[in-house]
Amino acid sequence: LALQRGGPRDLAAVRDGLARAGELAAALARVPAGQPPVLAQAATTLAGHDDLVGLLGGALRAELPLGAREGEFIADGHSAELDGARQDRDGGRRLIVELEQRYRGQLGLEGLKIRHNQVLGYHIELPARRAERLLQPPLSATFIHRQTMASAMRFTTLELAELERRVAGAGERALALELRLFAELAAAVLTRSAAIGRAAEALALLDVLASHAELAAALDWCRPVVDDSLEFRVCAGRHPVVEAALKTRGSGFIANDCDLSRERRLWLVTGPNMAGKSTFLRQNALIAILAQIGGFVPARSATLGAVDRLFSRVGAADDLASGRSTFMVEMVETAAILNNAGPRSLVILDEIGRGTATYDGLAIAWATLEHLHEVTQARALFATHYHELTALSGKLAALANRTVRVKEWQGEVVFLHEVVPGAADRSYGIQVARLAGLPAAVLARAEAVLAALEGQETSGAALAQKLAEDLPLFGAARPRTAAARPAPSAVEAALAALHPDDLTPKQALEILYRLRSQLGGR
Ligand code: ATP
Repeated sequence: LALQRGGPRDLAAVRDGLARAGELAAALARVPAGQPPVLAQAATTLAGHDDLVGLLGGALRAELPLGAREGEFIADGHSAELDGARQDRDGGRRLIVELEQRYRGQLGLEGLKIRHNQVLGYHIELPARRAERLLQPPLSATFIHRQTMASAMRFTTLELAELERRVAGAGERALALELRLFAELAAAVLTRSAAIGRAAEALALLDVLASHAELAAALDWCRPVVDDSLEFRVCAGRHPVVEAALKTRGSGFIANDCDLSRERRLWLVTGPNMAGKSTFLRQNALIAILAQIGGFVPARSATLGAVDRLFSRVGAADDLASGRSTFMVEMVETAAILNNAGPRSLVILDEIGRGTATYDGLAIAWATLEHLHEVTQARALFATHYHELTALSGKLAALANRTVRVKEWQGEVVFLHEVVPGAADRSYGIQVARLAGLPAAVLARAEAVLAALEGQETSGAALAQKLAEDLPLFGAARPRTAAARPAPSAVEAALAALHPDDLTPKQALEILYRLRSQLGGR
């Protein structure tokens, strides 16, 4: 509206928005005393717009055009002058209808019509073959020929032209009046723009607060304590998004505590792949953000000393267009953390040094951990697969080792997602690779390489050289060549002989039972 781009529907939006604001203000007035001052302030800002709501409500019709120039949006009864102009216009239209009736009777031509178009305006139209006599005296004195078409002729009369002038004049007057009234209403809105802006802000704030309250009630979130300390104590914290996703799959989220109090402000989190390290890191960062925007948090309880900045390095991304490789991005992010974080910051570092040679990576992770502990002194969660780093807990007083528990069961790894004191000694990467569907030959080969690597005392290039010599080549170890492929089992043969399109559902089910029984006790 301020840019003069608004239309009648924008006025209606202001009217409806402010009407709702008034309803909210009334609802807030019923809130018992002792509520946060922010609610009382919102109530004050939301109230007091009744006069504008009343003005717009009385002025606008229910159905509104997009643009003011289309007219017909001011309600009847709002302006006597407009009502008069509309009556003149409509009266003129009525007279035109009466004139049509009169001409029909006078000429005995039922097919005669008075029409309107942009070029001719109002005109009389009748079938060409019946119109001839209008071209002859005496009728030609009254009916002035305007246009001949294939099947119709068009005429006008002085009387019709006069009526048209009257209708058009009244119509123009009505539209001009509507445009003036629109400008007045827009001006009335604009003089209140600051107050309307404040009401909109209050509505937005209430929306956010109400959403947080609703989440807290529905999902069992708690109200955190945020103070000036350097504490970070979360009891039974959860990741809201992962939790919601698990719920849709019918499984539960395992809540975990996190305590980064001064004497153990740096947690080194080790644990197998897929155990839940990233989830744990991110849930605590999210809890810090939620707490500091004044929200409830997904935890049983939380006490946080205000965080001045939150730093995170997670995932592997590149920025090739700006000339940064994956490892470069990782290092730039790590540099930003080490150069900028301070004791009041919260840092989550999800793996560093993965995109380079193993020992380079370990060395960088090692030095970063020491720097975080000694210099930065931020509260930090550092997840890694470099289990060697856990040895640093003996040297760095505020470093605490945590691991995410798993259980081994019949050669499989079972993820418990529980964060507990301690260090992981292995990552179960090959088991996770199996879950992901790596080919059996690759898995078998990886197991052989791992066993050899773990059995070695030499290191670096010498080790690799030795392994390359000692281990049979991958190709040589490949278990199945085309010629050596084992004969199909009975179940495989039965499956190959099936034509699913020819089966009824019942037959398919019976075959399924039979195939299952052929597997025996497996
Ligand atoms: P990697 O080392 O392979 O990156 P990770 O230890 O960081 O793995 P996450 O990515 O955090 O593991 O978690 C893997 C999956 O485990 C998640 O997508 C989630 O489905 C599940 N998960 C993680 N934490 C929990 C938890 N606390 N409760 C239930 N499920 C969880």
